[in-house]
Amino acid sequence: MSIECFNLSKHYGKKEALNDVSLVIPEGRITGLIGPNGAGKSTLIKLITGLVYPTSGTVRIDGFDSMGQHLEAMNRLGAVVEWPSFYPDLSARRNLAILSGGYGRKYEAKVEEVTSFLGIRNVLDRRTGTFSTGMKQRLGIALALLPDSKYIILDEPANGLDPSGIVEIRDLIRECNRRSGVTVLVSSHLLSEIELICDNVVMLVNGRLCAAGPLKELLGSSNRYRIIVPEPDRCFAFLQRAWEEKRLFLSAPPQQFREEIVLSLEREAAPEALSTELFRNGFALSHFARESESLEEFFISQSRTLRGEK
Ligand code: ATP
Repeated sequence: MSIECFNLSKHYGKKEALNDVSLVIPEGRITGLIGPNGAGKSTLIKLITGLVYPTSGTVRIDGFDSMGQHLEAMNRLGAVVEWPSFYPDLSARRNLAILSGGYGRKYEAKVEEVTSFLGIRNVLDRRTGTFSTGMKQRLGIALALLPDSKYIILDEPANGLDPSGIVEIRDLIRECNRRSGVTVLVSSHLLSEIELICDNVVMLVNGRLCAAGPLKELLGSSNRYRIIVPEPDRCFAFLQRAWEEKRLFLSAPPQQFREEIVLSLEREAAPEALSTELFRNGFALSHFARESESLEEFFISQSRTLRGEK
């Protein structure tokens, strides 16, 4: 069981925010939701959390339809959508009680546990109007965790945080997942953060699903190679000429870092053909290894491919 989206589309009037998106958020993992501005990330999160109706398609949470079986579906879900907002004149404790609807001994024990873990137990009786952005984000995560959620959804949790706040939230998300096995879906523009915390990535571009899968597999599918040759300068000049003449299946200009050269090949190109060609031209490779792509490079190459650029 998991969060599943089937052929989800959402139109706001004539604006098509999401188009026929089908995906599964794998259970027990941390999945990053990425995409350029306006890609449809918030819309997807609002559809999953039942905040807006789909134009077509369905969302199922552990098999429960997020619209038709709203309560059963939402009972499994904790979410912090956009900026967590609280009643500024009430204490954090009061806010949690009102917003979660929780009460009783079991609930209070859970508040103690979750807020201790999130490092905000000592400010529970303070007015949230006096809270910093980081404290509000933690309180938002506490609210998402309180109902023993099986899934938590965080929309841009690093928004407005300073670098140390970003690191703290990153550690908290990882720790939440490690301690309780909660499934996390987190959207962010900070690709380096997503790369550090997520096992899985979903990428949207222009409302369409552009990539989804385990991060390692997606980044490992790059066709980038690092080579070492005895005469790097001469080889680099040869490769630059090949790039200018659109030969050797190069998909980007070669880059030289001292004695190493990094080459990007077209996705369908066979790397053996390149090494054979280099050998035929007098360059015997002493090292030839696939380079893994960073998430940022993956993001840029996928966005370019969708825009029809090379
Ligand atoms: P960002 O990264 O900038 O927050 P996003 O990926 O979260 O963007 P969405 O907010 O889901 O994207 O928006 C997708 C598209 O739908 C955008 O073109 C946006 O302008 C449009 N849109 C979103 N909400 C509405 C709305 N309520 N009415 C009309 N258009 C909307």
